Amino acid sequence: MNILVANLGSTSFKFRLFRFGGAGDATLLAKGGYERVTDYGQAIDDCLAELKAGGHARSAADLHGVGFKTVLGKNLTGCVRADDRVIAALEGFKEIAPAHNPPYALGIQRFREKLPGVPLVALFETAFYQWVPEAATRYAVPPTWHEAGVRRYGFHGASHKFAAERSAELLGRADIAERVRQLYLAGPVPVAAGAKPLRVISCHFGGSSSVTGMRDGVAVGTSMGLSPQSGLPQNNRVGDLDSAAVPFVMKTLGLSLAEVERQMTKEGGLLGLSGVGNDMRDVRAAAAQGNARAQLALDVFIHSARHWIGAFLLELGGCDALVFTAGIGENNPDLRAAICANLTDLGISLDVTKNDTLRGTEGEISAAGARTRVFVIPANEELVVARETLRCISAAN
Ligand code: AMP
Repeated sequence: MNILVANLGSTSFKFRLFRFGGAGDATLLAKGGYERVTDYGQAIDDCLAELKAGGHARSAADLHGVGFKTVLGKNLTGCVRADDRVIAALEGFKEIAPAHNPPYALGIQRFREKLPGVPLVALFETAFYQWVPEAATRYAVPPTWHEAGVRRYGFHGASHKFAAERSAELLGRADIAERVRQLYLAGPVPVAAGAKPLRVISCHFGGSSSVTGMRDGVAVGTSMGLSPQSGLPQNNRVGDLDSAAVPFVMKTLGLSLAEVERQMTKEGGLLGLSGVGNDMRDVRAAAAQGNARAQLALDVFIHSARHWIGAFLLELGGCDALVFTAGIGENNPDLRAAICANLTDLGISLDVTKNDTLRGTEGEISAAGARTRVFVIPANEELVVARETLRCISAAN
């Protein structure tokens, strides 16, 4: 089975083609992409032509499904067929995810025209949070705001779901790993009576960052809320911010709403704090050379990460595994060490050598005997989308 994953950014189009064997093993057959895309129809044509020229997909018959990592839909989530309902849901919330929803709505439509008969699947980033208790999703806003859709949704669902599945495997909990695999098909199936609860905190730290707490593979809450402009400081987007800040800067700095939105999404986060850039590598390099703003950006990031890990440590009543994933989480031992500092009494303690040497590959970095196992698990969101797409298509057949 060949599954194509289409990753549509605000100005880019990236793709990966996976082949799945009978045992569910995946091989990456091809990958590619285009930047500064203005015509998604053309980019999709180019992608299909590339796959044809490379001999990977000579015709639509060689493609068994296309998966999309859609972000946020109005009144719709999960892993579902990418049909008119999905397009309407994306359009319904284009104000909250303006950089992502319109390209996906357009991309899905184009693929439908170009590959009639090939199943298209949307895996919403919010899907992993369908079972979060209402108290953890509700903002204290007037009912009309709530009805309009103002609530916590959560993002990075594909990545955190993978962390849930893989950490369960690494902890020898095949039952929970299977529960996670079945999540979008069957919902949370009952856990065997008497089974020890599995409490995992997953830290997706990358260009965009979030922390999610999970019990028995199912999310209990996450740091991101209504939009990806929440939780930890992001690369150039603000994280958590007091809602009074928006009217305050509009009135006192004379900014228009459009300008506030632009600055919150383009000039905040690590960039706004450090003044040197939105890439953690640049921020760290500047901090190492004594740039105080860059050091403060690191400190704010670490403080926020600990804040959210602490929230889920309490919510879960402990933590069996802490997972670091994505570009920052996988490649920055000193940030991991700072985030885990002085937590020995809470069961979290790193093995200094293991932590220092692990970059970009899977492994365990906790100290021998520590109550909480700490893992680095590389993110591969495209593979997650491909797997879920395959599950969705296979379940329907
Ligand atoms: P992602 O969104 O997962 O692609 O992560 C992007 C972020 O990861 C950027 O802030 C990068 O600075 C950071 N990152 C990626 N690779 C490395 C690396 N080798 N060393 C340090 N940071 C990295």
